Amino acid sequence: MSGFDDIRPIPGSCADGRILIAGPCSAESAGQVMEAAQAIAATPARILRAGVWKPRTHPGGFEGVGLPALAWLAEAKARTGLLTATEVATRAHVDAALDAGIDILWIGARTTANPFAVQEISDALAARGGTDVTVLVKNPVSPDIELWIGALQRVYAAGCRRLGAIHRGFTTYGDSPYRNPPYWSIPIELRRRVPGLPVICDPSHICGRADMVGPTAVRAMEMGFDGLIIESHPAPAEALSDAAQQLTLPALASLLDSLPARAAGSADHELDELRRQIDAADHELLETVARRMAIARRIGEIKRRSGLSVVQPQRYSRLIESRKAMGQELGLEPHMLQTILEALHAESVRQQLNESDERK
Ligand code: PEP
Ligand code: MN
Repeated sequence: MSGFDDIRPIPGSCADGRILIAGPCSAESAGQVMEAAQAIAATPARILRAGVWKPRTHPGGFEGVGLPALAWLAEAKARTGLLTATEVATRAHVDAALDAGIDILWIGARTTANPFAVQEISDALAARGGTDVTVLVKNPVSPDIELWIGALQRVYAAGCRRLGAIHRGFTTYGDSPYRNPPYWSIPIELRRRVPGLPVICDPSHICGRADMVGPTAVRAMEMGFDGLIIESHPAPAEALSDAAQQLTLPALASLLDSLPARAAGSADHELDELRRQIDAADHELLETVARRMAIARRIGEIKRRSGLSVVQPQRYSRLIESRKAMGQELGLEPHMLQTILEALHAESVRQQLNESDERK
């Protein structure tokens, strides 16, 4: 696939080609935007983000300051030289942001999920002659790569050539250490399907917690993402939106300083992308194993409370047989399945018995 034959570079990339965007979730006051901008201008990031209009899940949340905040961004740009980026969700937002000289518009996850809204934004961009503005499209809240690509196609068809994608994780139900689990294989598949499209990782919305942002940002760079968008705030605890996930400005600076160099690619694009897919698949596999062990430990506690023995031979043989059948339907080799399943089970038993690992 492509149909995206003429994607042009995004302005504001660092000397090594990485695109680093930072700033508060929301623009809250002139002082807050300026304080963030001045600190960010001293880091390698060249683009300041701040939400002017905020799509909140529940009514009554902070919905952004609106128009006055555009002037704060313009002032920050004039004083620091940073490019500016904000979220747009309607035709009126596009017009107001472009009139205020915002350099980069992004389409938020809730908006990408709605083709009517994406079309309205695209029509507004087309009405302004396609413009030289950069548009970044966040993934939709659901793990639907077609919806993501469809939104990119609408914006491209509007004449926008400075186009990129932002991976911010996917809404899920149930336990996860992440606010929006990353399902890394999806953005990596996007890179394969749309070669040349910059894909930027948003560890802030993936993690939802400031302490997880750094390691996730590092992992994203190691996986070959083209850049990062990271929320940071002069006083995260007082932020009017997404307080838990915003980094302090000094924490942002030290994270950006310590990022690994961009993963160097080989001459073969297809090989690189496939290797990234293997990396992502392994990451998901290990997370699944860790989740399985956590469940096993909970079962262990219940067994202990109820005086049941840890190993229940009947359940064990039923489990192995049903998993082998499942695996074979997926085309996996029975001997390999047996080895993996036995190893998983042995480790679950060890964890349930709370034994120390003698192999260490
Ligand atoms: C944001 O970037 O602050 C935001 C609202 O993000 P998302 O659309 O990814 O939820
Ligand atoms: Mn946010």
